Amino acid sequence: MSSFDRVLVVDWSANAAPKTGRDSIWIGSAGTGARAPENPPTRAEAMATIRADISRALDDGTRLLIAFDIGFGFPRGFAERLTGRAEALAVWDWLAERIEDDAQNRNNRFEVAAEINRRFPGLGPFWGRPAGRDLPDLPAKGTRRHGHGLNELRAAERICSGAHPMWKLYTTGSVGSQSLLALAHLARLRAEFAGQLQVWPMQGAEAPVVLAETYLSLIAGAVKAAAADYPCKDAAQVDLLARALLATDPATMMQPDAAPEILREEGWILGAGHGAALAARLAPLEPPRLRNDCFAMPQGVDWVPVDEALSRLRRALKPLTGAETLPLLQAGGRVLASDCLAQRSNPPRPNSAVDGYGFAHAATGSGVQRLPLLAGRAAAGQPYASAVPPGTAVRILTGAILPEGVDTVVLEEDTASDDKTVVFDGPIKPGSNTRRAGEDVAKGQLALPRGHRLRPPDLALLAALGIARLKVQRQLRVGVLSTGDEIIPDPGQPAAPHQIWDANRPMLLDLLRGWGYAPVDLGHVRDNAGEIAARLDAGAAKADVILTSGGASAGDEDHVSRLLRDSGTLSSWRIALKPGRPLALALWQGAPVFGLPGNPVAALVCALIFARPALSLMAGSGWCAPRGFTVPAAFSKRKKPGRREYLRARLDDQGRAAVFTSEGSGRISGLSWATGLVELPDDACEIAPGTPVRYLPYSGFGIA
Ligand code: AMP
Ligand code: MG
Repeated sequence: MSSFDRVLVVDWSANAAPKTGRDSIWIGSAGTGARAPENPPTRAEAMATIRADISRALDDGTRLLIAFDIGFGFPRGFAERLTGRAEALAVWDWLAERIEDDAQNRNNRFEVAAEINRRFPGLGPFWGRPAGRDLPDLPAKGTRRHGHGLNELRAAERICSGAHPMWKLYTTGSVGSQSLLALAHLARLRAEFAGQLQVWPMQGAEAPVVLAETYLSLIAGAVKAAAADYPCKDAAQVDLLARALLATDPATMMQPDAAPEILREEGWILGAGHGAALAARLAPLEPPRLRNDCFAMPQGVDWVPVDEALSRLRRALKPLTGAETLPLLQAGGRVLASDCLAQRSNPPRPNSAVDGYGFAHAATGSGVQRLPLLAGRAAAGQPYASAVPPGTAVRILTGAILPEGVDTVVLEEDTASDDKTVVFDGPIKPGSNTRRAGEDVAKGQLALPRGHRLRPPDLALLAALGIARLKVQRQLRVGVLSTGDEIIPDPGQPAAPHQIWDANRPMLLDLLRGWGYAPVDLGHVRDNAGEIAARLDAGAAKADVILTSGGASAGDEDHVSRLLRDSGTLSSWRIALKPGRPLALALWQGAPVFGLPGNPVAALVCALIFARPALSLMAGSGWCAPRGFTVPAAFSKRKKPGRREYLRARLDDQGRAAVFTSEGSGRISGLSWATGLVELPDDACEIAPGTPVRYLPYSGFGIA
């Protein structure tokens, strides 16, 4: 692991105007507070982001590595000839004094390069410029250069295939232009954070903040494999390289085999020669395998209380899914795989909460206020172009950005106005009827945490905060298999009197869909070990988890439990629960199998009580308990101690829990009659009408 807490990787750009998307600036981050790749349109904004990250790291006492995809030095001999010192950092300072690069990306890099060329003999070393740019000392073609006396490549570049020379300033791969501009910015950054920031390898890598150069193509293969998960290749490169660098011990990469004077003058590419090792850090993470004995019950345990069964299950299981990146519109119902931070404040600027008139509060007082009205108005989407001088007012509509000079709005209903003046009673509280920038959520604030399952309102929040793509857990695939010789899989098929239609599979598949998983229909098999085994084989290939129903007890015809026991991984948990016989838990080729009882009533109760929290954990959204509340009973019942009971229940019109007439676990109509379950405790209890009982509505189990 890295000795850094956080890594930024910056894909720089020499664009002469603001630009986003492909071939513009991308900043990827990994580690503490990692964000989705950012795409600042200008170098000035990129530097502001980087500065903010540095300040945060210094405040938090965390270590930050910032790796730039540019050259930090030039081939040997250049620095000394230009600055009198054979040191790359002297070139940085030289450039910082001469490079101009404004907030709109307008810059003088070609002029500065021509000036450098004038200081070298012959023609060169820099070349490449836009057609029609009249700079005789900067040849348009590399082949026209002669006699400048410098190597084409640095030592580090010679071991990176496809690296472009620093001398090239124009068209594809013009690392030279990017570097001239970046180094000027970085020289200023060094001065600003002196003492807390080092440049590697010229100075070392011990400071809290370390700048290094890297090469995005080091992990080209991994980028290609994952590019579809990102808005563009550049975004994939910075995100993946940041993660790879964070996951790699810097000591393995920070000892380049080059003389100290070369390192001081030419610098070195972090990761050069280590591409394969970096890419290996990105190999799709194999979901952690569960151990074959994870469901084992200690010897001598007979009946397990429900709560103990739940805590054993919780300890045995872990998340099974990897992550993928999805556009916001496709992310509903998914589980966040990383924290979502606001990309912009909401609202981004102060605005008006009402239709009314805006003015500067300081120029008003108590009593009747008469303010001359300016021409025009501020409306949502139509900002007011000029400032509002103190003592005047402007018409403003809900959602409009407050014009310069306005800090307070009076509600239209509280005013009288002709087109020239607005009149209202003072005093008005300063800031009335306005919304502060970021009052809802401030930029950078945690909007939603990792592990959260996205509901429709969450999509509104994330969209409002400018979060376009989300890292989410891959959907958990859950297979459903019904077993039993008497079962006919489809109610469209005829059934003889001794046969029954499969009621569990439609119920379980739909339950899973509603919980946000990908249901996998594994159909029905007869009570035959070979057939069950073959179907479980197919299921383990298609699904992450399998739910079976039927044949899970220990009787003669309980083929599922026999098969799982013979395969050596079964644990039959005898849970002190009604309805529900033993819950069979096993691993089949690494996939957890939940053997639910065949009775539909027991199958549903076991699915809700055991499978639901277990699946939630395996899907990455953490363990979950059903939500319930206490209501008076509308029934009488006496219960012995020793096991927990769930009764099919619904609320009557007085808000009391009524229970289904029969407790028979074959009575499927009671499941459909019910709107939830009443949970009776493990201990004995005597219930009469009015006794408080715990009611768990279906909705609290995620059944819509
Ligand atoms: P088993 O757990 O296999 O002993 O089954 C218990 C009871 O549930 C038996 O009456 C089965 O016929 C019934 N049963 C099993 N599977 C299903 C199913 N998929 N749909 C409806 N009833 C079932
Ligand atoms: Mg059966």
